[in-house]
Amino acid sequence: MADRRVVVVGGGVIGVCCGYFMAKAGADVVLVERDEIGGGASFGSAGTIAAGHPPLNKPGRIRRSLLELLNPKSPLYIPLRWDPGLFRWLWTFRTFCTDHHLSVSMAALAPLGRASLDLFDVLVESENLQCDYERSGYYEICRTKKGLADVTHDAALMREYGYHPHGVSGDELREIEPAILEGVVGGAYFPEAATCDPHLFVLELADRSVRHGARIETGRGVSEILSTGTTVRGVRLEDGEVLDANAVVLATGAYSGNLTRRFGLRLPVRAGKGYHRDLELEEADARLLGIACVLSETSVFCTPMDGFTRLAGTLEFSGVNHEMRPRRLEQLTTAAEKYLDGVRGAVIRSEWCGLRPCTPDGIPYVGPVPGQSGLFVATGHAMLGLTLGPVTGKLIGEYVLEGGTSLPAGALGLERVT
Ligand SMILES: Cc1cc2nc3c(=O)[nH]c(=O)nc-3n(C[C@H](O)[C@H](O)[C@H](O)COP(=O)(O)OP(=O)(O)OC[C@H]3O[C@@H](n4cnc5c(N)ncnc54)[C@H](O)[C@@H]3O)c2cc1C
Repeated sequence: MADRRVVVVGGGVIGVCCGYFMAKAGADVVLVERDEIGGGASFGSAGTIAAGHPPLNKPGRIRRSLLELLNPKSPLYIPLRWDPGLFRWLWTFRTFCTDHHLSVSMAALAPLGRASLDLFDVLVESENLQCDYERSGYYEICRTKKGLADVTHDAALMREYGYHPHGVSGDELREIEPAILEGVVGGAYFPEAATCDPHLFVLELADRSVRHGARIETGRGVSEILSTGTTVRGVRLEDGEVLDANAVVLATGAYSGNLTRRFGLRLPVRAGKGYHRDLELEEADARLLGIACVLSETSVFCTPMDGFTRLAGTLEFSGVNHEMRPRRLEQLTTAAEKYLDGVRGAVIRSEWCGLRPCTPDGIPYVGPVPGQSGLFVATGHAMLGLTLGPVTGKLIGEYVLEGGTSLPAGALGLERVT
């Protein structure tokens, strides 16, 4: 193992977690990032560590989504344009919106979520990560009976997999969180969840990886994976330099379309754009919210962070681009003011969009690439990239350095990509 030289491609939460665990175990790690560490989707997520939460694919999702597309205020947005690849992807996605697949996903992801949460606790404590990490859970709050029924259903599902969410009435919610408006009829509390500042988490862990011996190269993109035919031997950078390695980990997020194609592996990862708008109140130190809330019917997350509250959400399939649509951003505020007092008067501190890497079956791709010794993939975490970051890093570290994993991760394998 000591002579294991690993190149990790991509410096988002996934790549940094992979690099950290391998460097800590003593491997010779180089992490190559085209832009800046944590500058992709990992920069501005809602910061919730939502262990055990069901993935995107759920029974009835497509029917609901098609209806939502007719509503300009819907969290889902697919621009009308000719895109057969997206159509195929959505068609495949539809085939995974079944009760059976939901059970398969929960059985695979719920234990990994718990392991990831435990790793967060250990990492924050042992590495002294300054990232506003809080283990106070979050509330999902509803304005309609339908929303409440959906949340109650999700909570019951999570209880089957060992989590402990429980229902809360509207009045109880207002007692706990005075900013919640009268129109909120109830919701659920998810006690196992945690929150953090996602960008700080990535920056801090990258720093500790370097202390454990990793080298980080930013502003450098990988253009090609080099192979003898069956065995990886390194990568070529966009400036032509070659980095030798006997293992390469691709943690390239929503930008994962190209590098594996020469090995006959077309990763069906689609970019699901999301937005955030950070709000601060005019009175110094005042907080819009004390604890994180998901606004159920609109799928907007409101997370209190150090000095501001982040509204994050929406899902837009408009390709790999970072164009910000002002209407989508405004929808975050429009949604939040129906649930929470103080939103409209708050000052907008920053706005952002990022690309979630989405797979058609809602399960990430984590593991070795069949037929190409030394090549590993870790992407496709969609809404759960921060949540599953640490456990993904641990799994990849074990695959690369030990040839197998201590946790069951077969469902995340690359064998299912045809
Ligand atoms: C609005 C929003 C809210 C979210 N909220 C949550 C949440 O509350 N909880 C949660 O768990 N998840 C959340 N997510 C999802 C989470 O942010 C993503 O799943 C996660 O950030 C994906 O991490 P990643 O490392 O795979 O991708 P990224 O962070 O995008 O990192 C990939 C990196 O690879 C680099 N790269 C790509 N190609 C190359 C190359 N050829 N050479 C070198 N570098 C390359 C890119 O520059 C990029 O920095 C949210 C996402 C969004 C958009």
